Amino acid sequence: MKIICIGRNYSEHAKELGNETPKEPLYFLKPDSAILAKKVPFYYPAFTKDLHYEIELLVKINKLGKHIEERFAHTYYSQIGLGIDFTARDIQQECKSKGLPWEKAKGFDGSAIIGTQFFDKEKFESVQDINFSLNKNGKEVQKGNSKDMIFTIDKIISYVSQFMTLKIGDIIYTGTPAGVGPISIGDKLEGFLEGEKLISLNIK
Ligand code: MG
Repeated sequence: MKIICIGRNYSEHAKELGNETPKEPLYFLKPDSAILAKKVPFYYPAFTKDLHYEIELLVKINKLGKHIEERFAHTYYSQIGLGIDFTARDIQQECKSKGLPWEKAKGFDGSAIIGTQFFDKEKFESVQDINFSLNKNGKEVQKGNSKDMIFTIDKIISYVSQFMTLKIGDIIYTGTPAGVGPISIGDKLEGFLEGEKLISLNIK
C-alpha cells in the first residue's frame, strides 16, 4: 500500500507556514514503513530538532482505480480515520529552500500515525463536515472541520488518480488545519474525531 499526503489543503495552515494557497492539490508520498505499528512507542527522531504534529483526516481506498471522475470518487472509499503526519520541519525547510524533495522530512519511520479505528462514512451526515482536533498535554492545539478543505475528498481522489493508480488499502492524509507546532520528549498527543479519542501518543 501507499500513503498519499495532501499539503496545504486548509488556507489558514498554508498561511501560517508562509505558503500560497494552491490552485491544484499538492501531494507527496510516505512509504508503508512510515506507519507506527500498534503498541510500538514513538521515539523522537535524532535527526531533527523541530518535529511538528499535523492532525489530519484519513481516507482509506477500497477499490482499484485510475482516471477516476470526481462524480464517481465517493465509490472508491467507505471509511474515514484520523492520523498525524509527523514532519521534521527544520529538514523540510532546508529541502524546500534548496528545491529538493521532502521525503527525508516526511517519510521517516513512525512519521505516519494512524488512529485506533476507521469509521464507515455513513456514520457522518457529510464527509465534508467532520470535526477533528488534537490536544497536546491536555490542551487543544489544532481544531479542524473538513468543510474548510480547499480540495474536497472527491476532488483529491480524482486528481491523484490522474497520475497514480489508487489501490485497495491505500491511505490518503487529507491535509492539516492551522495550529501545527513542535513537540518535545515527554509530551502527550491525543487526537479526536467528532469527540471520539482515536489517538493517544506519548513522545519518548
Ligand atoms: Mg500534512
